[in-house]
Formats: sequence, C-alpha cells, structure tokens
Amino acid sequence: MDAAKQIARSVLDRWTPSVLFELYMHPSNTRPAIFLDRDGVINDTVFRDGKPRAPDRVEDFRFFPGVEGAIRRFHSAGYLTIVVTNQPDVARGWQTRENVDAMNQVVRNELNVTDLYVCFHVEADGCLCRKPLPGMLLDAAAKWDIDLSRSYMVGDRFGDICAGVAAGCKGSILVGPGDSQKDAPEPSARVSSLAEAADWILATGQ
Ligand SMILES: [Mg+2]
Ligand SMILES: [Zn+2]
Repeated sequence: MDAAKQIARSVLDRWTPSVLFELYMHPSNTRPAIFLDRDGVINDTVFRDGKPRAPDRVEDFRFFPGVEGAIRRFHSAGYLTIVVTNQPDVARGWQTRENVDAMNQVVRNELNVTDLYVCFHVEADGCLCRKPLPGMLLDAAAKWDIDLSRSYMVGDRFGDICAGVAAGCKGSILVGPGDSQKDAPEPSARVSSLAEAADWILATGQ
C-alpha cells in the first residue's frame, strides 16, 4: 500500500460510526445562547473597599428587577442561557464555597437558566476559564452545541466584553458604566440593565 493510501486508510479507520454521527448529524453547532455574567447583571453587588463585590450570604442575594422576564424572553426567542461567573473570593478566603454554591442554586432554581459555569481560580492560577479568557464560553459551546457566531455575552465589566469577543460572539453588551480598563474592546451596546440588553438583542440580534 502506498503512503497516500495508508494515510487515507488510517483516517477511515478513525471514522467510526459515532464519529460519522458527530460529523453528519451535528455538522456544526446550531443553537444560539446568551452568556450572562452573574454579579452586577443578574444580581446586585455589595460595595467593599469601593469595589463592587458578590454578596457574602445567600440572604443578601437580590435579583435586579426585570431579570426573570429577560431570561424568559431569551428562552422564548430560542436562546439558551448560560451563566459564566468568576468567583475568586473563595480562594482569597473572603467567601465560602457553600455560600457561592447556595447563591448559584438560587439562580438555577428561580431563573431556570440552561447552565451555570464558575471559575474559582485567581489570576495567578493561569487557568483558561477566568474571564477575560473565554474558556467557560467555549466549554459551554461544546457541551450545548452552541453557535457562538449567533450568541451574545452580557456583562458589567470589560473582562466580560473581552471574553465575549475572544469566544467569537456576535455581540458583547455592557450593563452599567463598566470598570476602567485600557485597550478593552468597545462593547456592541451599552445598556443599564439585563432587561434593556434583552430589548437590544431581541430587536437587533436575529
Ligand atoms: Mg460582574
Ligand atoms: Zn478558572
């Protein structure tokens, strides 16, 4: 057998029925999604040392007005909803894992979001999931068959906008004034709430 045929043979050998199924029954990712930052988008933050932070306790966890309706509208329009949240305060010793999990359970139960991803790392860990890196979005895209080119990121910091751009989202929307960050990409839109982000996406995004 010559070299070319050997290569072709080795490729065909790897094309098991399950691979063919993956290739032909799911030729590309097909579902659009809205990626949602948590603190400052879904729920109010608390200020500590002048910076907005996640609430400490589940008792202090408050949804912003209009969030439930916005999620429902996304689902009705055919979008999956994926929460992607950095929670470095556990590693810093400022927050307990139990409290973070309890708050995320409130989000899952009351908003019925499709999925929720958490990065518990700090920057020094060098992980791929901590926003501004797009690891959580890419993991979700692989798991949920998400078409990133039809999807949107909504966040209140420029790190969220960077993650959306890096993942190849169609748009990345900033809620509120944002944090100061040099050389950050310009958001697709600036709005004051998730409800307004939903108005913008559902009016212009399809
Ligand atoms: Mg935030
Ligand atoms: Zn991480």
